[in-house]
Amino acid sequence: MNALTVKRRVVVPMRAGEVMAEFVSFDGDDSGKEHIAIYCDGVSDKKPSIPLVRLHSECLTGDVFGSGRCDCGEQLDEAIDLINQEGGYILYLRQEGRGIGLYAKLDAYALQDQGYDTYQANEMLHLPDDGRDFSVGAEMLKALGVTDIRLLTNNPDKASQLIENGINVSELVPTSVHVNKHNRQYLETKAKRKHHTINFMDK
Ligand SMILES: [Zn+2]
Repeated sequence: MNALTVKRRVVVPMRAGEVMAEFVSFDGDDSGKEHIAIYCDGVSDKKPSIPLVRLHSECLTGDVFGSGRCDCGEQLDEAIDLINQEGGYILYLRQEGRGIGLYAKLDAYALQDQGYDTYQANEMLHLPDDGRDFSVGAEMLKALGVTDIRLLTNNPDKASQLIENGINVSELVPTSVHVNKHNRQYLETKAKRKHHTINFMDK
C-alpha cells in the first residue's frame, strides 16, 4: 500500500444542511477505487479530544436504498449521528459487497434465497468471504495527520488491521445492531463465523 496524500477537501452539507461535513479525496491509491474520508468537526460541547473513526465499506443496496438484507444503511446513519456529535471521520471505502462487487453480491443474494448462508454462497461463487482491505484506512488516516483514534466497530479485524498499519486505537466504541426479519440470519452468521461482538436486540 502506497502512502497517500490529501488531494482535496470540500464542504458537503449533509441531510439537507443539518450536518456539515468535509469530504476529502486522496492521491496515491493506485487501485483507482476513490475512497473518501468524511470529516465532521463535532457539535457537542463535550466532544472527546481523540477523534471517533468509522470504517464503512460501501453498500449501495443498504446505504442508498435502505435494503433490509443487511444493516449497512442504519450503521452508516448511526456513524453520521455520532461523528457529527463527537467529531471525527467516516472512511467510506469503495469495496462493495465485502469486496466482491455489486453484481457478485446480487449473485450471492440469489443463492442465499435458495437457503445458503452468506459464506457458503461466496464459496459457491469462488469468491472470498471477505475481500475487504482495511489497511487503506490506516493510510488515509496518516495522510490526514490522524494516528490516535477511537474506533467505532464490532469487528475486531478492523482494529487489528489499523494497529498493524501504525494507528493507535485507544478505544473500541461498539455499534448498535439493527436486526430485522430479513437480516437476522445474515447477522447471526456473521457473529458466529467472524467473532463479531453482537448483542441482538430486536427493534
Ligand atoms: Zn449492506
